[in-house]
Amino acid sequence: MKRVGYVSHPSSLAHEMPAGHPERADRIRAIDEQLARSGLTDELIEHSPEPASFETVELAHDASLVRLLRDLDEQGGGRVDLDTSMGPHSLDAALRATQGAVDATRNVLAGEWDAAFSCMRPPGHHARPRIPMGFCLINHVAVAARWAVRHGGARRVAIIDWDAHHGNGTQDIFWDDPDVLYVSLHQYPWYPGTGDATERGEGGAFRTTLNVPLPAETAEDAYERALGELIEPAVGAFDPDLIFISAGFDAHHADPLCMMRLAAGAYYRFTQRVASWGRGPVCVLEGGYDLAGLSRSSAATVSALLELDEPAGVESAELGRLPGTTEAAAWIERVAELR
Ligand SMILES: [Zn+2]
Repeated sequence: MKRVGYVSHPSSLAHEMPAGHPERADRIRAIDEQLARSGLTDELIEHSPEPASFETVELAHDASLVRLLRDLDEQGGGRVDLDTSMGPHSLDAALRATQGAVDATRNVLAGEWDAAFSCMRPPGHHARPRIPMGFCLINHVAVAARWAVRHGGARRVAIIDWDAHHGNGTQDIFWDDPDVLYVSLHQYPWYPGTGDATERGEGGAFRTTLNVPLPAETAEDAYERALGELIEPAVGAFDPDLIFISAGFDAHHADPLCMMRLAAGAYYRFTQRVASWGRGPVCVLEGGYDLAGLSRSSAATVSALLELDEPAGVESAELGRLPGTTEAAAWIERVAELR
């Protein structure tokens, strides 16, 4: 069995959003409970991170973002944008989630762990260089990717973002950085509006951004085709020293915010595939708002990281492939033509 780190901290439960917000502490509780029920908790190497320093955050963000978060924290919290806010414990939670992703990166690059799952909140992939956005305060996976290249001895790293929303923050941060391949599979057009296939990075980083926009109702067969025909060759040509997954689970069919058609078992198969491409993966939790779908999909992902024969504790109805729209095939061909 593989050595898989599981990064968590109680601060993820203390970060409060307004009542009724889908990005809530129960998400973390649901995943923890599912992993325990599935007998996975005992197979994982637990790790509890300290808060990241502001210097670490600034590997991927402007100092102005840090100032904004500190100012709001000193006021006991406040609203960041229409659907993002901070409470009195939010900055600590976000900083620990960032350091958790960095610690996981360090441990995998050092060969102490084979892979990792950082199960913390708030999520990160919408946080842009200068501004928090879309439930996200700090872009954890982006900070960890930068850390890997600047301090971890990696020459190049790849981020595979399968959250159903486009990771606009991660794209912005690495737009002109040739050392980081950013790949996103996402519902389109959808929040936050970015992620067209023509967005491919610029300058020396042209073609190190790979967007695979997909129509609503896309199912596993089209995801598999995109992973096999577009993303696997791109990652192979890029030859990264470490692979990250921006692991959002809101493409699950039951998710209330998105309209994709994946069952939990899809994430087991996707993780197996990505794990075969290189070192890692370091998985960093992003979205996923149906508690049952989120927690089963997380258990399926962790099962694949551990190289179990099948997803532990995921019922048979969630193991198969759902039918979806046939439109996705033409969308994938369009991305292929642009490569
Ligand atoms: Zn999302």
